[in-house]
Amino acid sequence: MLSVRAAARYHGFYSRSGLRSLGRVSTRHIRTATVTDSDIARLAATPLHPLTLADLCKHGRPPLSEQALLGSANFTLDILPARLAHRIQSLRALPYIVVANPNVSKIHGNYVHSLSTLLPYAEKKIESFKDDVEFTTVLADLVETHSNTISILARGFLEARKYITAREVTRFLDEHLRARIGTRLIAEQHIALHFTSQPHNQLSADDQDLKDERAESNTYIGVIDTALKPAEIIRSCEATVGEICELKYGVRPTINIVGNPETTIAHIPMHLEYILTELLKNSFRATIEAGMEKEPIEVTIAPAPANEHQTMELKNKPERMERNTHGIISNYDQGNVDYASGSNKPEISASANIRPLSQSTPGVTIRIRDRGGGISPENYDKLWEYGFTTFNEDEINDKVSGGNGGGGALDVISGGAGGGSSLAGLGYGLPLGRAYAEYFGGGIAVQSMWGWGTDVYVSLRGVGKID
Ligand code: ADP
Ligand code: MG
Repeated sequence: MLSVRAAARYHGFYSRSGLRSLGRVSTRHIRTATVTDSDIARLAATPLHPLTLADLCKHGRPPLSEQALLGSANFTLDILPARLAHRIQSLRALPYIVVANPNVSKIHGNYVHSLSTLLPYAEKKIESFKDDVEFTTVLADLVETHSNTISILARGFLEARKYITAREVTRFLDEHLRARIGTRLIAEQHIALHFTSQPHNQLSADDQDLKDERAESNTYIGVIDTALKPAEIIRSCEATVGEICELKYGVRPTINIVGNPETTIAHIPMHLEYILTELLKNSFRATIEAGMEKEPIEVTIAPAPANEHQTMELKNKPERMERNTHGIISNYDQGNVDYASGSNKPEISASANIRPLSQSTPGVTIRIRDRGGGISPENYDKLWEYGFTTFNEDEINDKVSGGNGGGGALDVISGGAGGGSSLAGLGYGLPLGRAYAEYFGGGIAVQSMWGWGTDVYVSLRGVGKID
């Protein structure tokens, strides 16, 4: 089992220290090829490979043999360029004045850059460990290049809001950010497999420690932890979000975990951490604004059987469609829709040939219950819009003593007037959190008791494992 300390190190590991340890081939030496319009058209015309979790796990448990590792590299190389080309095309399809915004155009440039670093490999295969070191560096550069996308796009769409409706922004971002989850996952999975299969003498002492720790716990296949304990992630997110509250507002709400905290599932720790951080930020903020920090936020963890998820998926598929046209939000949305290709094929799903881990439950439901006053009926309808927020730094500062002044979404994007991380303000937490939950067939549902508090249900379907 991964300790909280190791988990914390893990979360930033592949993108940062991963890049460092693989950085022997300096990113300055990454080769690029000119990306032409016809390259983009050709790649975007190839249908997206519908990726399954079986695909991500099919190369086996680390440490991989050289042959298996090269198999993973070539598989990654097969699918990434088309996905990047699709993103470039969809950015170019935005109204010209929006694409011309410097922030939006920076993201477009990042995609073209990443494609230009993959193209030199697209003609040939990755044939040796040395090739793979170089290729993995390219992937690490890709992950790094796109790490600030969310705040840059948020700024871009905020600046361009006169020229594009909130609904159009949500439609674009929902597709774009969901596709981005997949692209990063594919790259991060190979980086992780490469790293955990690297010969000992190529690792720094620090990375070696982590690798040993990982080998000992042996619950990982790349970035997937087959015995992930949501309770541990909740505790580490409580610490992070509590820190922000204490620093900025001088108060720190607490969490009471009930239910079955021993539950483990097979899932991606980074995804669960994103979801829970966003939901806890919302609950902590509401609790502080309502002056209810004496009341602990109650988090219930309950294992969910596999067939319950399956029923929910079938039952809710039509409702998901309805939500898209009529804004219905109060149901579990289980549809694992491949937004990028517009089909209903799962982008990534648990597949029949993955059997559930004996020690991990097939799914888990987490309920976060706060006494923060709930959500007003008129706001309830806008919760899933990217950019919808009621955050106002001045208002929250009026409620507490010792806070910093400031305000406005642009301040939040640049780190807030008080500096450091912010508790809220982008209006991306709920829609993006739900995108992560839905990626593997889970969902997020919000129930509000206006004047009292909010219940948020996160359901996650464990991704199972292959032996
Ligand atoms: P942000 O937190 O940046 O405002 P979110 O998407 O996370 O963006 O949330 C959007 C809005 O939903 C919040 O601004 C708030 O008005 C409302 N909200 C979300 N969660 C809660 C909660 N637990 N209690 C009260 N209001 C909430
Ligand atoms: Mg939020």
